[in-house]
Amino acid sequence: MALVVQKYGGSSVADAACIKRVAQRIVATKKAGNDVVVIVSAMGDTTDELLELAQQVSPLPPGRELDMLLTSGERISMALLAMAIANLGQEARSFTGSQAGVITDSTHGKARIIDVTPGRIRGALDDGQIAIVAGFQGVSQDTKDITTLGRGGSDTTAVALAAALGADVCEIYTDVDGIFTADPRIVRTARQIPRISYEETLEMAACGARILHLRCVEYARRFNLPIHVRSSFSTREGTWVVSDPNIEGTEMEQPIISGVAHDRSEAKITVVGVPDKVGEAAAIFKTLADAEINIDMIVQNVSAAATGRTDISFTLPTNDSQTALTALKKMQSEVGFEKLLYDDQIGKVSLIGAGMRSHPGVTAKFFGALADAGVNIEMISTSEIRISVVVGQNDVDAAVTSAHRAFDLDSDQVEAVVYGGTGR
Ligand code: ASP
Ligand code: MG
Repeated sequence: MALVVQKYGGSSVADAACIKRVAQRIVATKKAGNDVVVIVSAMGDTTDELLELAQQVSPLPPGRELDMLLTSGERISMALLAMAIANLGQEARSFTGSQAGVITDSTHGKARIIDVTPGRIRGALDDGQIAIVAGFQGVSQDTKDITTLGRGGSDTTAVALAAALGADVCEIYTDVDGIFTADPRIVRTARQIPRISYEETLEMAACGARILHLRCVEYARRFNLPIHVRSSFSTREGTWVVSDPNIEGTEMEQPIISGVAHDRSEAKITVVGVPDKVGEAAAIFKTLADAEINIDMIVQNVSAAATGRTDISFTLPTNDSQTALTALKKMQSEVGFEKLLYDDQIGKVSLIGAGMRSHPGVTAKFFGALADAGVNIEMISTSEIRISVVVGQNDVDAAVTSAHRAFDLDSDQVEAVVYGGTGR
């Protein structure tokens, strides 16, 4: 008998019919002799709708109340799913994040899990019940307030609970058959990846591939917990995220490049005419850090000898742009820079693959593919297993398609079926 943790995304529980279908799948897993813990997201677009509703009553809702509101989405789906399972003759019990023992820090909107104490979940399993847990939420250790883990955070709830319970596998159900070499909505011939390492998946998640929440992959890697990403709309085998994707004893060699990810959610700010002196960059980024803004790529120009000034550009989530611009304007006279430029019509395209560590020429080929597609590169950043470029937003599709082709990632048939359409 195994302990299976399953997480169902919003598209898998979008309406009553979907919930009944998922209930059958869960009951089948239970009847096969497994203990089952299920984590659910809110139905369909519920979280977006709740956010929209909040905006209508207040332009800047207090974080505590926003979390209170958003967590109600998952309470709806967990209770409905438990009812649907009961209707199939199995005992199920639903739990909020707090009841399930998901303890977090007190940062509303992006809380971090600091402990998981799933006593009640264990108890339910011991009583032969199926436990259903609301994803994306927890309770703060100090304030005792309800918190959320950030958009897409149900994945992290699932992996954290799976690790705490010592589950054999964590299955993440979505609306596509796993992780693909590129977004199948852009590249029709994207290929399904059967097995991939945590480190590559981390880079993909960080680079905008919206398939898994970043912290969920970090968590899984820390606990060496295998994740199986698959569709709830089919019974096909999905993608296994594991520490070593090479199957021992086989000659199956991993490709040099695993995939091409893209992200349209970032913007670029350029601080023009920064005096080329020690400490100026530190002051600028300290200001941004104090405003809790996560910076992604940074480029500093060589200073023009004549002026003794330089430009610093960086990218950040578009959602944080207003906060960043306001914070920087406040320090303009102190630092003495000339002006700020803002561009939200950018996109990031990233090539990811553990094989690039040991294979030269990957960068040249990538940039060649972009040139062939007539795409201009605005910024570049790299890690050991990733090369990212910032390009104009309208060039993203062409850049992804061209890079995907250049690295022979195209499949000769259309493999990707997008069942739900929202990617949740
Ligand atoms: N319902 C939340 C969201 O839409 C959490 C999740 O789906 O993982 O972001
Ligand atoms: Mg998700």
